[in-house]
Amino acid sequence: MTITSPESIEIQVADHVRRLRPYHPGRPIEDVKREHRLSDIIKLASNENPLGPSSSVIRAMREACERAAVYPDDNCFELRQKLSKRLEVDPEMLIFGRGSDEVIHDLGLAFLEPGDEVVQAHPTFSRYEAAAILGQANCISVPLKDYTHDLDAMAAAFTARTRLVFIANPNNPTGTMNTQSEVDRLMDRLPPRAIAVFDEAYFEYVEDTRYPDTLQYVREGRPVVVLRTFSKIYALAGLRIGYGIATTPLIRFLNQVRDPFNVNVIAQAAAAASLDDPEQVERSRRLNREAKEYLLIAFRELGLEAIPSVANFLMVDTRRPASAVCKGLERRGVIVRSGEPFGMPSFIRVTTGTIPECDRFVQALRHALSD
Ligand code: PMP
Repeated sequence: MTITSPESIEIQVADHVRRLRPYHPGRPIEDVKREHRLSDIIKLASNENPLGPSSSVIRAMREACERAAVYPDDNCFELRQKLSKRLEVDPEMLIFGRGSDEVIHDLGLAFLEPGDEVVQAHPTFSRYEAAAILGQANCISVPLKDYTHDLDAMAAAFTARTRLVFIANPNNPTGTMNTQSEVDRLMDRLPPRAIAVFDEAYFEYVEDTRYPDTLQYVREGRPVVVLRTFSKIYALAGLRIGYGIATTPLIRFLNQVRDPFNVNVIAQAAAAASLDDPEQVERSRRLNREAKEYLLIAFRELGLEAIPSVANFLMVDTRRPASAVCKGLERRGVIVRSGEPFGMPSFIRVTTGTIPECDRFVQALRHALSD
């Protein structure tokens, strides 16, 4: 017998939890396969790396499987040593998470109290607001200017209650970046209790020399957290591992709220191995450059305008309801992201794939636009 859940039962829950919206991930491939009875689907919806992990990283993962019976190293010792050497920071200045998502969550847990303020851009990555809501803080959202974080306007929104400031650089979903001088100006205006969080999930893709060096603030002992991840250029999104870099006292508080054994053995081994494979990063950067060029030419031919992006995705204005375009693409076996939840209802966000994947997307888009 199947048990069905009665919907009418009242559950007591805190008001701020009621305000939380579950995260909307890109649609899983298997979902779309089932709905449209398709066998061959490509997903360009979650800014993943189409090259996948290299063979040396896969070998490290296989070896790590042998250790699955034992809890992982809670301190991520080997990875911590390697990464601290790479970044030239003390090992104690790093915190690892189940994706940088978990570090964002922990920042809210560690530093927010009811009535505090979180400043973010709009639209941007949704987990900052979620952290603010969970921490019962007020989330102040400052509109983008030219699709880019307006750091002067964000600084103008600072008050004595500002506790966390989130800057996604490059921004998701627009792929735009802020320069060193813009960031320096924001840092000059940071209020005494505030921590600036620079989310650099896509920084390895950026080739613009004006991109800021935010680690310099950490080295100077400023109240700054830099977030990075192995999910994007390192192609390990399925393992969930990211990290934060900050001064030792700040990291100590994040460690106090962190779940024990949060990063599994396979993720630790894969991340450590991927640091030994700089060619993978270079290959991915090169493919991204080529794929973006390919897509931009195709958009121009279709008469569509894309927001200039320094990341591994493009936001393009379809000049019609994006949800319908996304449906049309899904029917043709291509999953992208609608701009609707970001308040950009005529835009779609497409991740750069391999060139054949980009080609398939462009053909599908051509048809979807005339459905
Ligand atoms: N920050 C930004 C700006 C992102 O786009 C993402 C991924 N969607 C993340 C953080 C989270 O990445 P992860 O948890 O996989 O490290």
